[in-house]
Amino acid sequence: MIDGGGWPTYVVLGRQGSGKGVQCERLAARFGSAHVSTGDALRAAVRAQTRLGRLVEPSLVRGALVADDLVTGIIADRLALARSTRSGVVLDGFPRTVAQADQLETLLAPRSIHLAIHLDVPPSVALDRLFQRRVCAACNNSGPATTCERCGSATDVRADDTPAAIGQRMTEYAREAEPLLAWFETRSLLATIDGIGTPNAVTARVAAAVSASRMAGTAA
Ligand code: ADP
Repeated sequence: MIDGGGWPTYVVLGRQGSGKGVQCERLAARFGSAHVSTGDALRAAVRAQTRLGRLVEPSLVRGALVADDLVTGIIADRLALARSTRSGVVLDGFPRTVAQADQLETLLAPRSIHLAIHLDVPPSVALDRLFQRRVCAACNNSGPATTCERCGSATDVRADDTPAAIGQRMTEYAREAEPLLAWFETRSLLATIDGIGTPNAVTARVAAAVSASRMAGTAA
């Protein structure tokens, strides 16, 4: 099995509010990789009112999962781009189901996923974060402040951070997470990280897990 060499594929998993976005951004910066967020791509399609955007908008507003073939199409395009530029990818929000994980494995072949990092945060902590979350439209930074701490633009509440849509997304996560985590575990690709703490503390844990997996890959 070819593991991706200098252009690795990392997957970051975790429930809503686990801090995936921030950690993906940092991991991508570390490796000069593309940060590929299916949620960001779908929201951009909705904003631009493309055919895809109009198709997925009702699901996004409700907090329901979008059909597998639509998100897999986005990922296939991004992986093709990464392959042509020989850059790595950090996948944020994909795969979310075992069917998507199988499709990812097929898309990457003969390469494979380097590591799946599971940010483990209990529902109570995640809910606290989600109910306070505001997002900056200019730079995508998120946090509780009404003015972006990174670029100074005004922040807003995400359209699917309503109590009903948060509940729906958490329910979807609870249904899909266990078999998905087991899929990665069976392939010895899973690193579960404590996601409680400051973003920097979690980044340090992610970095340690990535280094450990790279060392193990070198030793093998
Ligand atoms: P969150 O993890 O907080 O729900 P995301 O930005 O990852 O936020 O996703 C937002 C929405 O985009 C999801 O509720 C779902 O409608 C859709 N979506 C994103 N990724 C996927 C995926 N892999 N499969 C199906 N739907 C997805």
